[in-house]
Amino acid sequence: MSEAVARILRDAFRRYYQSHAVPAPPSVEKREFGVGDYGRKIVRRHISFVSEREFRRYLREHAPLYISYSIAYFKKPDAQPMEAKGIEGADMIFEFDADELGLFSPNDLWHCPNCGSRGVVGELRGFRAGVCPNCGDPAKIIMFPDPGREERLKEEVDTLVKDFLMGDFGISRTEISLNFSGNRGYHIHVRSPSLRELDKEARQEIVDYVTGRGIDVRYFFDVSRVPPRGPKPTDGGWKGRVARKLVEILSGAKDASELVRFGVSPALARRIMRERGHVVELIKKGVWPFIDTKADDAFASVSALVRSISPYMGKEIDTNTSVDIHRLIRVPDTIHGGTGLLAKRIRDLWSFDPYRDAVALPERPYLNLHVEYIPEFEFAGEVWGPLEDKNVELPLHVSVYLLSKGVASWRLTTQG
Ligand SMILES: [Zn+2]
Repeated sequence: MSEAVARILRDAFRRYYQSHAVPAPPSVEKREFGVGDYGRKIVRRHISFVSEREFRRYLREHAPLYISYSIAYFKKPDAQPMEAKGIEGADMIFEFDADELGLFSPNDLWHCPNCGSRGVVGELRGFRAGVCPNCGDPAKIIMFPDPGREERLKEEVDTLVKDFLMGDFGISRTEISLNFSGNRGYHIHVRSPSLRELDKEARQEIVDYVTGRGIDVRYFFDVSRVPPRGPKPTDGGWKGRVARKLVEILSGAKDASELVRFGVSPALARRIMRERGHVVELIKKGVWPFIDTKADDAFASVSALVRSISPYMGKEIDTNTSVDIHRLIRVPDTIHGGTGLLAKRIRDLWSFDPYRDAVALPERPYLNLHVEYIPEFEFAGEVWGPLEDKNVELPLHVSVYLLSKGVASWRLTTQG
């Protein structure tokens, strides 16, 4: 994008903030803010506001392309250096990003920064996510709106909120703020007083619990009994979750490969499948006959199952976001300067459609773009594409979205 596009964006952002009263984050006077401009998410930080009124005035007057706030609460949020701010605690953030979770769709594009090849994910049979089929280097995925992917993401977000945060940790729904990230995922802000004063190590333990990394499954079982006893579907926490999932998989599985997909070793999977009806009945009673012999294999399989059914699906995600108490995160209900989408606060997760409900920019002005390639997708209530190597005039909202993905370039502005 160019400076000319940046100017159009700043105008559109200003008009948006002049007509929308964005709620300030709770305890606004204790938060540090950072703002960004064209292509740079943070150019200035250590900003603070004494009230929501002042925060809103800043948005109206400056219309920053990015605005983030500290998850931490400070005595003096604008003081420098960091140590002078006087930290009083911090919220906890969980991030879900479709890219990090490997939720690719056949419509997505891949491109390789190393050798320059690119293509459509669905046209490659056996495309290995993240690997360039030409040179084997890491490939980047360019994602387009896909309702199926949104559903998958929402399932994981919902599991984290309902089963883990509310269920296992007993956090009230009113202390959880659920937001679209403004790009490819969701941010869950936990503002519970019970978490506020936790240090890095305690936060890491929570993350390890949620991802299943910190779960020692040997404590699930009593192998001194014959046959061994283990989790029942009615148990709380991870134990019940594992038992329920195994019963669910076994009840629907056609062959052993479906267990293997969840991390169970092939040998154990075949053994379980041979007597699966019987095994299901026993697990419902908390009896785990296959834990007796080759127990290491069985424990490793249950560990792998735990990780693969966690909300992060066993992916090596960057959990630093959840652990780092000094981080700034996009202010909910403000516009993401890269995509033009709102980091919208979500009331009902299941009816929320980011590409309809979080579109913040207007149609006008139209921009003249050269589109390299886009698949067919829905955005702002209309269907766009497919287009390949075409010059087109498109509304501002979808233009900015395509420019942010690097699949289109700006040619010349027509004020419409
Ligand atoms: Zn390559």
